[in-house]
Amino acid sequence: KKYGKPEPTIFSKIVDKTIPADIIHEDDKCLAFRDVNPQAPVHFLVIPRIPIPKISEAHDDDASLLGHLLIVAKNIAKKEGLDEGYRVVINDGKNGAQSVYHLHIHVLGGRQMKWPPG
Ligand code: 5GP
Repeated sequence: KKYGKPEPTIFSKIVDKTIPADIIHEDDKCLAFRDVNPQAPVHFLVIPRIPIPKISEAHDDDASLLGHLLIVAKNIAKKEGLDEGYRVVINDGKNGAQSVYHLHIHVLGGRQMKWPPG
C-alpha cells in the first residue's frame, strides 16, 4: 500500500461509518464533517478517504486529490454562508499541534480570526 499501513485513527472510523459524525459532504475521494470541538461558529474538517497520515508525507502523485480537498473546502464554505471570509488550516506533526494522524483540512469561520495564531 502506498502509505504503508498507518495506525488506524478515529477518522478512518468516520470514513468507515463505524463511528458517527455530522457529515456535510461525501464523494468518492473525500468526506467533510463538523469538528466535535468547534473553535469557531463554523468549524469543519475535510479528509481524504485514503489515510494519508500527514501533509508532510503526501506523495507528489496525490496532487490532484489534495487540490480536490481544497476545492471541496471552499465549496462547503460558500454553502455555509462564510461570505465574509474564513481560515483554512492544516496542522502537521508535533510542532504543528497535529493530534489526529489522518490528513485533514480545517475550515473555520463565522468570527473574526487573528494573525499570527498561537
Ligand atoms: P488536529 O489537531 O489533528 O489538526 O485536529 C484534530 C481535530 O479533530 C480537532 O479539532 C478535534 O476537535 C477533532 N476531532 C477529534 N476527534 C474527533 C471526532 O471523533 N469527531 C469529530 N467530528 N472531530 C474530532
